Amino acid sequence: MDLRRLILILAVMSALVTLANGFFATYQVQRQLLIDDTLEANRNYAAKLADTTNLFFVSLYRQLAYSSAMISADFGNSALLQSEAQRLLLQTNSFNSVAVVNAEGVVLATSPESIQIKGRKLTTPGALQALRIRVPNISEPYVSVTGNLLIFISSPVFAEDGTYLGYVGGTIYLKQKSILNEMLGQNFHGAGSYTYVVDDERKIIYHDDAARIGQPMAHGELSTAVQRQGRGSLQEASQSGINILAGFAAEPLSHWSIITIRTTDNTLMSLRGLMLSVLHRTLPLTLLTLVAAWLFARLISQPLWLLARSANDMDRTGVFDDITRIPSWYFEVAQLKRAMLVGISLLQKKIGTLKTEVQTDPLTGLHNRRGLSLALAAYSSANQGFAVIAFDIDKFKKVNDTYGHDVGDQVLECMAQQLRACSRSEDVLCRIGGEEFLMLLPATPMGIATDIAERLRANVAAADFPSVGRVYISAGVALWSPEAGNPEQALKQADDALYRAKAQGRNQVVVA
Ligand code: GH3
Ligand code: MG
Ligand code: MG
Repeated sequence: MDLRRLILILAVMSALVTLANGFFATYQVQRQLLIDDTLEANRNYAAKLADTTNLFFVSLYRQLAYSSAMISADFGNSALLQSEAQRLLLQTNSFNSVAVVNAEGVVLATSPESIQIKGRKLTTPGALQALRIRVPNISEPYVSVTGNLLIFISSPVFAEDGTYLGYVGGTIYLKQKSILNEMLGQNFHGAGSYTYVVDDERKIIYHDDAARIGQPMAHGELSTAVQRQGRGSLQEASQSGINILAGFAAEPLSHWSIITIRTTDNTLMSLRGLMLSVLHRTLPLTLLTLVAAWLFARLISQPLWLLARSANDMDRTGVFDDITRIPSWYFEVAQLKRAMLVGISLLQKKIGTLKTEVQTDPLTGLHNRRGLSLALAAYSSANQGFAVIAFDIDKFKKVNDTYGHDVGDQVLECMAQQLRACSRSEDVLCRIGGEEFLMLLPATPMGIATDIAERLRANVAAADFPSVGRVYISAGVALWSPEAGNPEQALKQADDALYRAKAQGRNQVVVA
């Protein structure tokens, strides 16, 4: 797992969480808004219907009261009763049938006349109730002799002296076509909703679905609220598990309640489209944010990644330049980069020092055998010819024996100075044994090399060594050219020449 992926995951998670949160919040708010609106609409619609129904009943009472007054003066006039019944039925089309009944409950006139109950004594609940209570009344719904579910609305007829003469009343069918039916059935407030009406026993007396008429309404919160004969709205899970939004309103004359329902599912149907359009509008910006996050993650992680990769091979040559080139546009990377560069230069300096120490003779500061080997390898691989002077201090054992080892060491140090004084900067100076030295002179012909060897010998012979006085050296000179093969060969030749110089009496230079 690298930083870039981590940042990317973080960004994607943030974007998704923000998106989901916004989406969810919008959904919640819109959902509640829709539910509240629907509850309010249902409440208003039920109240409106209740008011309309109330007005309708008041108007029916007025019509019946007027007819009562019209016929009370001449109640025995059968033709008058018949024409009044006719007028009530036809003038406003409010009733399905109209009857004038006397105090004994016998029908005196009907309209339409086709119902043929004239002269019969009515025993239906509505008729009996009207006889009994003798006040304007809307009956409980009941099934008539002709088999219709109906209500009976009546107004008593009194003589001028207050004698009860009977009543005039009209039926309104609940299941068949009637004015009430049409009034309630006009569902103005949108698809997916339905209206029903219950009486004060909470039996359904009107329903958009006619099959439900006559059944009791389901028990529950709504039923309890309706029982209180008030107005309002509520949300309820119906018995069939369907969530409904209900508005209800009681009608004061009939004690009916009008209930308008819309299922929550239906109400929230538009929410799906709404949420899709929210998604539609938020998605492009979210995707853009993710792309930006991806690019930014790259920008942040790239320098760190490059630093991490460089840290893997700090000893590689060129790593310093690589790190220098890494863009460090923010604090942490700048600091890390600086620290790494400092670390690498320290490391390389240390390595350089160690390398020099390994190749250097501690007493004289000249190259040791390892330094010599490296120099030979470098010349060989660069095809660089060179001259070699090998020399050895004469009778050095005696110096040690006479003056001690420490003085011997001093002599060796002075010898190194002599050597340096007679060399050029490109020459390689080595101490390869106790008091044996070697000088490599790149691109130097034999003549010049011999001259240098001779000058060195003469300088040493003329020098005054502290404590010891005169010290002499013998030297052998040889040449190496790239065609000659192994450079060690030239060293051997120089050594042989040196041996000859010793044999020939020392303090001299011999050319191989
Ligand atoms: P020659 O070369 O003329 O034949 O005689 P020599 O006495 O120099 O003979 P040889 O080369 O055999 O002796 C080398 C001596 O150098 C032996 C040892 O005591 C001495 N020596 C070797 N290394 C050191 C050193 O590091 N310090 C000191 N003081 N003496 C050393
Ligand atoms: Mg020796
Ligand atoms: Mg010697």
